[in-house]
Amino acid sequence: MPAGGAPQPNGGTVRAILETPGLSPVLAALPGARLVGGSVRDALAGLPVADIDLAVPDPPERVMAALVRAGIKAVPTGLAHGTVTAVSAGRPFEITTLRRDTETDGRHARVEWTDDWQADAARRDFTINAMSMDRAGAVHDYFGGGEDLVAGRVRFVGEAARRVAEDYLRILRFFRFFARYGRGAPDGEALAAIRAGLAGLGLLSAERVWSELKRILAASDPRRALALMAATGVLDAVLPEGADPARLAPLVAGGVPADPVLRLAALLTGPAEGLAARLRFSNQEAERLAALRAGPVPFPGDDDAALRRLLADEGRGALIGRAWLAPGVGPEWDRLRARLAAMPTPRFPLEGRDALALGARPGPAVGEALRRVRSWWLAGGCVADAEACRTQLRHALAGGSVTEP
Ligand code: ATP
Ligand code: MG
Repeated sequence: MPAGGAPQPNGGTVRAILETPGLSPVLAALPGARLVGGSVRDALAGLPVADIDLAVPDPPERVMAALVRAGIKAVPTGLAHGTVTAVSAGRPFEITTLRRDTETDGRHARVEWTDDWQADAARRDFTINAMSMDRAGAVHDYFGGGEDLVAGRVRFVGEAARRVAEDYLRILRFFRFFARYGRGAPDGEALAAIRAGLAGLGLLSAERVWSELKRILAASDPRRALALMAATGVLDAVLPEGADPARLAPLVAGGVPADPVLRLAALLTGPAEGLAARLRFSNQEAERLAALRAGPVPFPGDDDAALRRLLADEGRGALIGRAWLAPGVGPEWDRLRARLAAMPTPRFPLEGRDALALGARPGPAVGEALRRVRSWWLAGGCVADAEACRTQLRHALAGGSVTEP
């Protein structure tokens, strides 16, 4: 197919990605290189382009040498996979030698280098991800990706069932891209292939599953993709704890920034004790999920002192999140969240050293006294200052009672 044969939804503006800082020296050093994958797709869709990946018909050693000759920093990030990273104007550009698959096993592929652009495009997952753009700005679209992008069709390159069986991660990738670009009825052949390939999801590592699920949940409105995942059995396979896409409605309608952990917490319908470990969450993700699903919930009727107490103990993020999950829909909940967002987080003004400064000897009694004074400070709505707290600490350390706030 001739260069530029596909419809270009944004006409000339697509070429603007060629102006990305740092890119032109790389293209000058590697004149045969093209932009590939997500950058071309997103430029055509008129969306911001995050990373620019390039492909070249030359083997990686030649790519390294050409970059070095041009004075561009070249990092051999994945020579075995054919990938070199050029660092130009402080930005990384991944440059991968064209490949064709020689063997696949449901997750990993054995590849060989090629100089055939169409063969490289044919191993990519979806038509919208299989386009490339040369340095003159011509889009090379061997499988009708441009048209599919305009129509909101996420379609496998080639025969869907075979592409799924080559790499079952593509099941989840389908929903990632459907959530972002899909419009209208989903591709029937893809859905049939996904249903037939369900058991293959078991081959995927937990990290991969969570990383894809996160990207699906990060789409601006993932409900249709999640509903399709439910209908095909994929949602149950990845979240056997139970998940209901309709539960995202308040978060999406409320314009809450797309936060995968908050959205996951909203989706879950059943107990989820083992989920964080099963999906190999980071500690931070695991703590956030736990904090969102348990703990005191703020209510619109709470006065400022009550909210300050909650803020001091629970933190703002968890409280605002729990207010969304309550499910806190309606103007009074919006006002509550605005109050929580605007209030400073109260900080208990004393530490261990304050007790020592009052002459206390280090030991468990100090901790105990500080805990009692902190409870007193909380009960008073977190307004007592350091001096007032110190007075109470003196009493507590002397074995006396802490006064009523
Ligand atoms: P995103 O904006 O989400 O990063 P992307 O298109 O850049 O989208 P990546 O996962 O970064 O997606 O992959 C880059 C490109 O590599 C894809 O556009 C696709 O052409 C190809 N690709 C990646 N993973 C696969 C896969 N499992 N099977 C086939 N092709 C793939
Ligand atoms: Mg990418």
